[in-house]
Amino acid sequence: MNTQSNKTITSQLTSPSSARTVDQDSASRMLLAIIATACFLAASVVVSGFIGFGTNISFQFALGWLVFLSAVLLTWPYLSLNTRGVIALLILAALIARWSYSWLIAPPREAMIGILVVLLYTPILLVITTLMFSAKAVFIGILVGLLMGTISVFGTSREVLAPLYLNDWRIGPLILCVYALFAWLLKRWVNERYALELSAQREQQLTLESNTDQLTGLANRRSCEARFQQLNAGPRKYAIIMLDIDHFKQVNDTHGHHEGDRVLRRVVNLLVGKLRPNDFIARWGGEEFLIILESISSTDAKAVSDALCQSIEDGTENDTVPVTVSLGLALSASDRTAMDTLKSADDALYAAKTAGRNRVSLAF
Ligand code: GH3
Ligand code: MG
Ligand code: MG
Repeated sequence: MNTQSNKTITSQLTSPSSARTVDQDSASRMLLAIIATACFLAASVVVSGFIGFGTNISFQFALGWLVFLSAVLLTWPYLSLNTRGVIALLILAALIARWSYSWLIAPPREAMIGILVVLLYTPILLVITTLMFSAKAVFIGILVGLLMGTISVFGTSREVLAPLYLNDWRIGPLILCVYALFAWLLKRWVNERYALELSAQREQQLTLESNTDQLTGLANRRSCEARFQQLNAGPRKYAIIMLDIDHFKQVNDTHGHHEGDRVLRRVVNLLVGKLRPNDFIARWGGEEFLIILESISSTDAKAVSDALCQSIEDGTENDTVPVTVSLGLALSASDRTAMDTLKSADDALYAAKTAGRNRVSLAF
């Protein structure tokens, strides 16, 4: 975790892309595919009408449908998810209208095609509306099933349809139950996915919190372990700085713990402002910080350490509580682990303290 990611910790946690949004997005893409297919089919009917096939009614119906769907496709990128959900409901309503026409009015051949088309598309539309309105899924499923079921009960009594379909009143309740069950199962699935996503997010947040220092927002000592392992894994050139605020106990004793906390955050802000995005900084403990500079020469590491030391002195000069810091700097070597280098930096820090503080001491 570097200083940049420290800064973005909270924004990552507050704006997750939830399972619900992912479902709504995929439902929206399914709807788009269906609308595009329907548009193509409507266009085919219109074209075949022009060359003399079909009936007047089917031609006019397809023309109206084509205009509506084309308008939806053209404005699609500007429509919100909610509007797309409403469009899904409208298409569902159109399918029910087609269902009613087929069962109650249409001549047998036309009725048969209509019923098959609706049986084919309604489950897909139910999936889409369930994903978009998971809370109302069961309600939508029951309503659609009830309407389609009732209509088919009336339709089965039409003499003209008797030879074509199972002339049985049980078709109606069956459709109601099947669609309601279908919507209920989908709703459960959507809710479970959402619950899983929430618990994954919580886990991620806990991991993040356990690796973050609450007061400063920096990585804490615990999260340094992973960094050390990375450093030990390959031949890398790096420098470790141990930085400690001078006479910090006095700050607390004179100005109180609350002011002490404020000074800690102030020092961290100044340090983070001076470091490069790839540098690593962690709160090692109390008023002590660990900084890792990767791929850096000894001259540059010394220059960065001096600059950090100076920036704290200059930066807090006009504050209510001016402070200074002492730094111990150690460079990596191929035969030493990160922990060895850290130990050297710690010794160097001790040397900087005994040499009078507000300075950088380089480990040998
Ligand atoms: P030196 O220059 O030798 O480092 O002296 P020092 O007073 O800074 O060192 P010492 O280790 O004696 O004191 C460190 C103090 O830091 C003691 C402790 O109360 C304070 N401290 C540690 N963590 C916190 C914190 O989170 N908030 C505040 N306000 N104080 C803290
Ligand atoms: Mg100190
Ligand atoms: Mg200390």
